[in-house]
Amino acid sequence: MTTSAPWTLAPLRPEPGRVVRGRIRVELGTTAVEVPLVVVDGAHPGPRVVFTAGMHGGEFTGIEAAARLADLLDPRRVHGQVVICPVANPPAVYDGRLAASPLDGVNINRVFPGDAGGLPTERLAAWHFTHLLAGADAYVDLHSGGIDEDLRDFVGHRLTGDPGLDRRTTAMAHGIGIADVIAGLDAGGGNSHAAAARAGVPAVLVESGRLGERDPEAADRLSRGLLGLLSVLEVVAPSDPAPPAGPVRAWTWAASVTAPATGLWYPALSAGDDVAAGGVLGYVRDPADGRRTPVLSPVTGRLFYGMRALTVSTGAELAALARRSGA
Ligand SMILES: [Zn+2]
Repeated sequence: MTTSAPWTLAPLRPEPGRVVRGRIRVELGTTAVEVPLVVVDGAHPGPRVVFTAGMHGGEFTGIEAAARLADLLDPRRVHGQVVICPVANPPAVYDGRLAASPLDGVNINRVFPGDAGGLPTERLAAWHFTHLLAGADAYVDLHSGGIDEDLRDFVGHRLTGDPGLDRRTTAMAHGIGIADVIAGLDAGGGNSHAAAARAGVPAVLVESGRLGERDPEAADRLSRGLLGLLSVLEVVAPSDPAPPAGPVRAWTWAASVTAPATGLWYPALSAGDDVAAGGVLGYVRDPADGRRTPVLSPVTGRLFYGMRALTVSTGAELAALARRSGA
């Protein structure tokens, strides 16, 4: 692990052995937002680990676990810095409670590394990328199944082709205590963890919780899993209450299926169910004439997340399927 250079983010001034908390004002062109930040600055040198949650609204388990994480850390025993941003996208979290921001309709986790001169949400992505992600020694982005989204807990990461980086990223992915780990075969696209990986930062996506539920036990389990990850990164010593991570099932993404029509969606599967290629994922019903359009799986695999809302428009993501690695 590298030792981070001194790092500050005005007006927060981290000091070794202390926890600092505050809000950072981020200008977005037509408006500004205040991004909350907690920095646990360890008394001992070590890596800087950045956690974000609340990139999307309505994803409560990740936000709650991030908000709890600082309370589980004693800065006198921490090696390095733990930077926690529990609400990365305040407009989407507080106002819309949806993936798209009410400011501009943009899904922030499709536009990383952002654009400092672009739409408000693109500017917010650029701020996160520049100030939090790019200089990190490790990065974790916490998501959950949103209010309309069924989900089976998993950890995602991207393969970059850099063996050293991929090895460090995989070790992180296996250290969280979530059994299903899904690899993306390249680091393309606008997800924050993909953009971080392209910048050489070991980065994982953690998806835990579903349907916008707020489940204190799930948040507690996740925050202790994150503590386990911090012990893998040697930021904290392995100890209770971090449970040892169990065996991992490795998967790769196989298909994302979108709605073929606007209408009413009747899913046939729940997250965690397996389906064969050609099997029925559900159907979309036209609310006027009652016509049903079946939606079939293009692959054999397991559903990790899927749409649970009744109403969908053409192109909405209905199902994300993964297959066992090597299968
Ligand atoms: Zn999300």
